[in-house]
Amino acid sequence: MPQARRKTLEVARREEGALKLEGRLLLLVDDDRGVIELLRRGLAPFGYRFVEAEDGTQALTAIRKHQPDLILMDVEMPGLGGVEVCRIVKANQGAGFAFTPVILMTAGRSSGKVEGLELGADDYLVKPFDMLEVSARVKSMLRLKALQDTLVEKNKELDRINRELEEKRSALELLSRTDGLTQLINRRHFEELLQSEWQRSLRYRAPLSCMLLDIDHFKKVNDTWGHPFGDTVLREVAGVARRAVRDVDILARYGGEELIALLPETSPEEAWRAAERVRMGVEAMRLTCRTVDPPEQVRCTASIGVSTAPAPGIETPEQLVQLADECLYEAKQGGRNQVRQALTE
Ligand code: GH3
Ligand code: MG
Ligand code: MG
Ligand code: MG
Repeated sequence: MPQARRKTLEVARREEGALKLEGRLLLLVDDDRGVIELLRRGLAPFGYRFVEAEDGTQALTAIRKHQPDLILMDVEMPGLGGVEVCRIVKANQGAGFAFTPVILMTAGRSSGKVEGLELGADDYLVKPFDMLEVSARVKSMLRLKALQDTLVEKNKELDRINRELEEKRSALELLSRTDGLTQLINRRHFEELLQSEWQRSLRYRAPLSCMLLDIDHFKKVNDTWGHPFGDTVLREVAGVARRAVRDVDILARYGGEELIALLPETSPEEAWRAAERVRMGVEAMRLTCRTVDPPEQVRCTASIGVSTAPAPGIETPEQLVQLADECLYEAKQGGRNQVRQALTE
């Protein structure tokens, strides 16, 4: 038994003591009005409510209309008999329909009892009956019904809680993949995607390009305008880069002020153009620092290294990134605010 289910049963058992049976609705079905009157009188002290039916057809209508907590039903009735009604009730029970206990009443012949129980009647009584026995059996069936209803309710609650948990879990998962400052993918998740994109590019024999960006003289930005403004610059550069690449391109924050992009199915020429778009976008940024008086306009630039696989010397995804890093270093050496690309032959 799953643990959640066992827990539900425990709760149900604990709540059994608190079950209130008064006010429960009993459907009394008999073609003999005398029997109905007898049952009503005998059961009235327990505070139950009653609906009545005098044959099987009326009984079915009453069941649909009132959804009783318990059915006490005669077996021998003209037309639709108690056994048939019981069969219909039990066939509809389960998915969607509430569990409704049925007690069949027979006129003493044993065939009715056996047949009734085999057809899923929950209990039976033999006429003429002893009211003490009737009330005891009614009470135990109502208790069963109440427990069953509690179970159904608790299961619904469990389903709801499970759905909530699932939503929270996926929100957390998203959070664990996201860089809080830039809202880009973080490095850990990037490493995962790098592996799968690499495999995909091998499978489809498609080129895979990598772009590594580092903001120029970022220490100076922090030193001059303060770390919080540095954060703003970083966020803006991330936005510029996001807009400069395609939706299918994977853009991540790789380190402090380094961004990395994977461009699937992208040739060296296309990768170069994408990198230039990013570089020019950063160069065109105009940010205003308002923590100084008067506010000042701040500009910045970035250097970018680009590599593309397949190429000689690139056997692994790590080597693809490594080569982009070497190109980035060359871009810095070459005077910054530029794109450097690895030769492909
Ligand atoms: P270079 O042109 O050679 O890249 O010069 P640089 O000043 O950018 O040098 P470097 O890349 O070594 O410096 C990175 C700086 O970025 C140092 C660090 O304080 C800063 N930095 C890293 N992460 C963050 C961040 O999340 N927010 C801010 N504001 N600054 C950061
Ligand atoms: Mg009868
Ligand atoms: Mg830098
Ligand atoms: Mg750096």
